[in-house]
Amino acid sequence: MPGARGRPQKIKIRILAQNDLLTMMRYAFIAIVLLLLTAACRAPLGYTETLWMPQQQEAAPPTTARRAAPADAEAYEPDTAHLDHTPIKYIRVNVHWMNNAAKTANLDDWRAVNYTKGMIHAANYALENNRAMWLPYGNETPLLPTRFRYVLTGRPDDPNDDGIYFHYDDTLYYYVHIGRRNANYSSRRVVDKYGVQLDTVLNLFVMPYHVDSMYAPNFRGEQVGVALGNAVKIAGPWLRMWGQDPESYWQTRGNINHEVGHIYGLAHAWNTNDGCDDTPRHSQKCFNKDSGPGCDTLTSNNVMDYCALQVAWTPCQIGRVLMRMADESAKTRRLLQPNWCRLHEDRAVFVTDTVVWRGAKDLEGELTIMPGGRLVVQNRVSLPAGARIIVEPGGELALEEGARLHNACGDTWAGVVIREKNGLAGRVSSAGRVTVENLSHQENR
Ligand SMILES: [Zn+2]
Repeated sequence: MPGARGRPQKIKIRILAQNDLLTMMRYAFIAIVLLLLTAACRAPLGYTETLWMPQQQEAAPPTTARRAAPADAEAYEPDTAHLDHTPIKYIRVNVHWMNNAAKTANLDDWRAVNYTKGMIHAANYALENNRAMWLPYGNETPLLPTRFRYVLTGRPDDPNDDGIYFHYDDTLYYYVHIGRRNANYSSRRVVDKYGVQLDTVLNLFVMPYHVDSMYAPNFRGEQVGVALGNAVKIAGPWLRMWGQDPESYWQTRGNINHEVGHIYGLAHAWNTNDGCDDTPRHSQKCFNKDSGPGCDTLTSNNVMDYCALQVAWTPCQIGRVLMRMADESAKTRRLLQPNWCRLHEDRAVFVTDTVVWRGAKDLEGELTIMPGGRLVVQNRVSLPAGARIIVEPGGELALEEGARLHNACGDTWAGVVIREKNGLAGRVSSAGRVTVENLSHQENR
């Protein structure tokens, strides 16, 4: 009967509902406990954490406080005892293969793609394997790692864009260097017409010589280049070079690195006052060690000289390039892949001894000052989004004149956390003009 069946059914439902409520409450309780535990777990067991708040911030007028502290190139030379304090910077590049309409002036197919990858690889190889200076003969100039590289970059909204482009233009495809009529090496026309992402990517134009001269019997095509702010032109008889050796891209590494040296503010090393004491002036008579009498000891291998092997970067030259890359007002900083915006768990920096940061830093992970560690900051330090600076008990963060803690991408970071255990706390001191910006907990004020 329906009525007899219906009654126990109803009771069953009520019991189930009561059980559900109990289960829900139980789950909610567990969730709250877990949440509290997670919050507590951000500080390790037995530690307490307090957020350090800057005192001087209101006192310093923003306009003067924003000005970067004066620093010299030496402040940017990589510290070989703490290489992780200088994350590698990546210059975004794309490559344009210029050709005539008949497609007879330059590589134009998979060979150009292979050549492009080879060129970037060879240029990066030279940056990874910096060489000791040959000049002055018998020098003891330190050999430092460069800490910058290239990365081939297409348009972010196009997954098929590999950053390699082909253009066919009878007027603009060829390169004419100094000393010849119709020299066009310094013209920006090809850049303006075919450049891609010029504000954020270094455009590299691979240009052949004019077909009329390139196929002439007495043609002597050298490899030359020119730096034009956000673009580089390199010229060579690419088709002929491929014909002689498909791996001739190794010959381009000095040329590319030399022009990029110009892009990041380096001058020629041999005859000018390039602002570096470790790049000696010299006669530039020897292209390589076999160029004539005396060349075994007079040849340069510096990247900013004209020589067969442009493979040596001095500490001052590296410092100057890295200083320019850290300069927020420099247009060429925008050519870098901003790896410092997002927090990378695997790129945390731990300070364990006494370290002074005179140059600006773009960190890519959290910064922890360990017990016994002392970090003195005298310049801009950018923390990635959401990152903290943690000062462990017995560690010290000294913010000195010119220190500026911020996020260089317009995002927010989580502030300086002082940890304490058994009455011993981390120390944070602040003296002079110190600014702290882009804190996440300052947003809602
Ligand atoms: Zn040059």
